[in-house]
Amino acid sequence: MRDAAGVRRSLLAWYRRNRRNMPWRETRDPYRIWVSEVMLQQTQVATATPYYERFVARFPDVRSLARADLGRVLALWSGLGYYRRARHLHEAAGIVVREHGGRVPSDPRAFATLPGVGRYTLGAVLSMGFGLPWPVLDGNVARVLARLTARPLTVKRPADARELWALAESLLPRSLRRAGGQAGPGEWNQALMELGALVCTPRAPRCVTCPLRAACRARALGLQDSVPPVAARRTLLRVRRAVACVRHRGRLLVVKREGAHLDGLWEPPGVELERGQDVSAALAAKLEPLGIRARLEDSGARERHTITHHDITVEVWEGELLGAVPRAGARHRWVPSAGRSIGLSALGSRLARRARAGSKPTRGRARETLSRRASPRA
Ligand code: SF4
Repeated sequence: MRDAAGVRRSLLAWYRRNRRNMPWRETRDPYRIWVSEVMLQQTQVATATPYYERFVARFPDVRSLARADLGRVLALWSGLGYYRRARHLHEAAGIVVREHGGRVPSDPRAFATLPGVGRYTLGAVLSMGFGLPWPVLDGNVARVLARLTARPLTVKRPADARELWALAESLLPRSLRRAGGQAGPGEWNQALMELGALVCTPRAPRCVTCPLRAACRARALGLQDSVPPVAARRTLLRVRRAVACVRHRGRLLVVKREGAHLDGLWEPPGVELERGQDVSAALAAKLEPLGIRARLEDSGARERHTITHHDITVEVWEGELLGAVPRAGARHRWVPSAGRSIGLSALGSRLARRARAGSKPTRGRARETLSRRASPRA
């Protein structure tokens, strides 16, 4: 790119005037930056912020996270989705304590081998936490770079991704630190992401106010709305489920989910439904192995629940326990509310709150995980 130094100057000056306040921008602690970056990978800033604050208040450093029971970690992650991120972070914290004396390693080879650390997280933590010249490439950065060069590049194609990483690398400031402030490479990476989130947006980029408009080839060629090409949306698979919200003395029955996305999280027992299936009988069969009987009725509430590539409509059936209360076991518990002592799924949290309030069910939309956000940090 011609005049890379000028591009850097303009963007950094704009960033220092326009950057949003975010709690992880007030720290240089690599652990906290790591936590924030993991949370932000698939999640909007506004959603991630309260989770981040609770998480670092409860686990202020690597050692406290490594010591924690995984269930506690998942409980704090409950509702944020993509729970594998929390598992990886917890596992990685254990490795950092055992193999690196509790200090997040600044050696890229060591950090890159930790569970859940991909190229993006590596670049983000090394640049923002240690001031090392490592690039990042997320959806926002890729879009800005594709437009600056007017090249139809998308991270979804491996050859394009290689080119984008090389571009990001070539623009990176090499100076290690800016006196009294954040690391140069870290600040630069954040500036690129911020421009993509606030100005160079997927639709209707605000070129008139963009600090890079003089250098931008897409704008010069009138291609800012067509570069990069918009990826076709993946069709969601429709699924119908029913859950049994069995209450007893203000508590709600929850079971541990198994499977790729919600493994280890808790929510009311449920079944996937087939056309014409007797829902009441299907739910009774689900409860039977737990030794639980209940008089269930369809509450009429329907929850829309999206889990990677699946659009799930959940029928909420409610009722009181019949007969004796079976003891809570390894795979079922009675929870009082959406308290954070247990890792409830987003759906489980909503249903627990509803059970506690004893309110009439309403139609709602629980979002467990997003299939993919165009601009994860926006
Ligand atoms: S001039 Fe427009 S297209 Fe180019 S980087 Fe700025 S906002 Fe994006």
